[in-house]
Amino acid sequence: MTADHRDTPSSESHADSVAGPGPISPTKLLEHISRAQRDFILDGDAREVFCRLLDDILDSTASEYGFIGETELGVDGRPELRTWAITNIAWTDELAQWFEKNNPNGLVFDNMETLFGAVLTEGRPVIANDPGTDGRRGGLPEGHPPLLAFLGLPFLLGGEVVGMVGLANRVGGYSSELVEKLEPFTATCVSLIGALRAGRERDMANSERRQRMAETTAVLESVADAVVVVDELGVIRTYNRAAETTFGYAAKEAIGHRITLLMPDELTPPPDVLADHDRLRRYVEGGVQPFLGMRQEVFARRKDGTVFPMELSVSEVVSPDATMFVGTCRDLTSSHLAATELQMYAGTIEATPDFVGVGTADGTVLAINEAGRRLIGFPLDEPIVNLQIGDVHTDASRRLVVEVGLPTALRQGSWSGETEFRRPSGGVIPMSQVIMVSRDAHGHPRYVSTIARDITEAKEVERLKSEFVSTVSHELRTPLTSIRGSLGLLTGGVAGQLPDQAASMIQLALSSTERLIRLVNDILDLEKAETQRLGFEMRQLRPGELVNATIDAIAGLSEEADVAVVVEGLDRPVANAPFLGDIDRLVQLLVNLIGNAIKFSPPGDTVTVSLSVTPDGTLRISVSDNGCGIDGTHLETIFEPFRQVDSSDRRRVGGTGLGLAIVRAIAEGHHGSVTVRSTIGVGSTFTVRLPTIDPRESDDHEAAAARPDTRPHASP
Ligand code: ADP
Repeated sequence: MTADHRDTPSSESHADSVAGPGPISPTKLLEHISRAQRDFILDGDAREVFCRLLDDILDSTASEYGFIGETELGVDGRPELRTWAITNIAWTDELAQWFEKNNPNGLVFDNMETLFGAVLTEGRPVIANDPGTDGRRGGLPEGHPPLLAFLGLPFLLGGEVVGMVGLANRVGGYSSELVEKLEPFTATCVSLIGALRAGRERDMANSERRQRMAETTAVLESVADAVVVVDELGVIRTYNRAAETTFGYAAKEAIGHRITLLMPDELTPPPDVLADHDRLRRYVEGGVQPFLGMRQEVFARRKDGTVFPMELSVSEVVSPDATMFVGTCRDLTSSHLAATELQMYAGTIEATPDFVGVGTADGTVLAINEAGRRLIGFPLDEPIVNLQIGDVHTDASRRLVVEVGLPTALRQGSWSGETEFRRPSGGVIPMSQVIMVSRDAHGHPRYVSTIARDITEAKEVERLKSEFVSTVSHELRTPLTSIRGSLGLLTGGVAGQLPDQAASMIQLALSSTERLIRLVNDILDLEKAETQRLGFEMRQLRPGELVNATIDAIAGLSEEADVAVVVEGLDRPVANAPFLGDIDRLVQLLVNLIGNAIKFSPPGDTVTVSLSVTPDGTLRISVSDNGCGIDGTHLETIFEPFRQVDSSDRRRVGGTGLGLAIVRAIAEGHHGSVTVRSTIGVGSTFTVRLPTIDPRESDDHEAAAARPDTRPHASP
């Protein structure tokens, strides 16, 4: 707030009209000054000190009223005067209120066309003992106490007017002699204002520094890396929140300690290095560890004593009063663990004697392990380019892998089967192969991997065994056939009428021989099914064609047993769903299942064969009967060779217990499966599942319509 301070009018000359007071006492003045200085130092309230000083100086100079003020720049950049102390001369209630309100912060006067303005602008004392006639006057507002004499003394600090004192109405007026005497007083005011200004500047600088510190701290706290600042002696000065997490020490535990607190013993520099700044600097720059300026891996120690790998970069910050080393640290424990884990996996894969390959979802091979490369004769150190998963297989096997294996794995997660690799030197390597698909977070296939084991030896053993079994069986079959022939001729009466007892014994021998022949035949079939999977004559088949061939083969049995066989699904698209198979073997499979169903059904009943295809492209052929059913405890075992639920079956229906074992061997030889559901007294359903060919991979256009295309096709 700016007061309209004018200093006129007063026409009478005060100095001449009244006798002046006595000279001022220098002792008293000094007393006032030293009290002011002491008060200022002790309680520091500048306004009170200046008020007391004003009272004292008014008293000493026998002045009536006055002020002490400091210059400052107004908002418009022009000088103003703000009072530190001023006599209250308010002459109206309104002015008194205004004074009360504004005095605590100082009253501001900005009219420089006045006597006090002359002091400030000229920087020289102004004595006006006849203010009414003084050209520099500004005039007084109405009601203002009369101005009879005026003295204004500037406060000069380094040539700049920093403030002034104004005194009025000393009886007898003011003189230059008085001005001289008041010099200690003005000097005191100058130093007080100087001290206040320096204090204000310091405060400003401090608050700026605090602001900068707060900003720096906020930045440090927000960074993810641990930041540790040490001084020239290696003492920790700053330690952010990430450092607390990384090292386990709270900031208050770490700050003030040597940086060695965070270093494992073997890295800790010797104590004499730590104590000497230059040596520490050399140490940091390139002594034991060339830390400075570059990012590197070191080991650090946590509060709990664990030593961990850390990436550290140190920079040097030089300021006029200190040199600091700023260390940015990143804990590498987890990335080290991940790398170690990866190395472990890679090492395991490289060390495995099996073929391990990884490729993309479309079957492009990206990597093959060492054993795999050796197996197929691929150079160990050459990158793999343009190799497809099927390229390592024989032609028959490639078809199986590309048309069945890969699509099945993409649909179901994995596929396993027996395949054949090409031997680099020519020839075939029988393999037991698994294809697996790994998916990303959204379930999209990311990689296809495969593990394949060379089963040459196992195959050889199997071959020898089966050779033995079939040799023995063949050797048995020939004499058995001739025994059956001879016994048949005997019962037919070729040797004349036999005595009753002999006839019944020959009949028993004949039926036992027939059972033995069936057994030998089944053993031969099972051997064939189990060992000749790769020998199957696979071609593209359709379910309709397979079922029709089976019905023809079973017609005699069906008629003989008086059990009808009906087929469901022959008129549906499923009948045309293409799949790979050996027609003769699959007919044998279905003959066994339908034959059993007929055997265990009462005469006059019906056996149902039904065809369907699942959404994931699996062909299902089920054979259901309403026969005696199978007890739950036997459901698992009936597929094993020579297993029969009830040995009386053998006598009644004449089975060998090998039929279902043959069924399973043929189904698995086609990468399929067979299962059974059955309820005693209600009936049984045997279901065979076989993979079909993706319609788009089939060379048969009708095939596309043959099955619901709802499965997720993963091929590119
Ligand atoms: P078998 O030559 O004795 O029929 P399989 O391996 O074909 O031998 O069958 C094993 C056993 O499973 C049979 O002895 C019989 O107990 C049971 N079995 C097979 N099919 C059926 C069926 N449709 N109904 C009831 N039992 C069955």
